[in-house]
Amino acid sequence: MERTLVLLKPDCVQRRLMGRIISRFEDKGLNIIAMKMIRVTQELARKHYAEHVQKAWYPSLEEFITSGPVVAMVVEGPEAIRVVRDMVGATNGLNATPGTIRGDFGCSRQMNLVHASDGPESAARELAIFFREEELCPYTPTIQSWLRAKDE
Ligand code: ADP
Ligand code: MG
Repeated sequence: MERTLVLLKPDCVQRRLMGRIISRFEDKGLNIIAMKMIRVTQELARKHYAEHVQKAWYPSLEEFITSGPVVAMVVEGPEAIRVVRDMVGATNGLNATPGTIRGDFGCSRQMNLVHASDGPESAARELAIFFREEELCPYTPTIQSWLRAKDE
């Protein structure tokens, strides 16, 4: 089992797409074990996007990610980090495959609706930035036995 950080970015909240995008993770059989709406501060943006802070386009990204509320959530499931990245699609909505979130809902490189951790190390780092251990509510869904076989 893996846990990954998903953010519904300000464009997702403003465009009233939260429900439809959360539904995709639920429909897939993944487990949402924590969720909160927050305003990303400049400090939090710099921490979360540490790998991009030096890039020429970072100021624009920071302005965007701090421009309105975001929803942060922890999504759990087998191979959840890769599975969620595959569901999210390529960074630029213009290149993202139809059927992916970015492919179905957007045409932008920056306003691409969702963030998802890109590997085990970033998942661990990002989860710790957004959530304290006691904020997580892991549970076994009552339909667990219908989601996959016991040995999967
Ligand atoms: P991803 O979110 O697919 O992992 P990156 O880590 O490369 O993408 O970039 C982080 C975020 O920065 C992207 O999701 C997007 O919102 C924004 N971004 C990426 N490239 C650019 C760019 N060239 N100009 C402006 N914003 C960008
Ligand atoms: Mg990234």
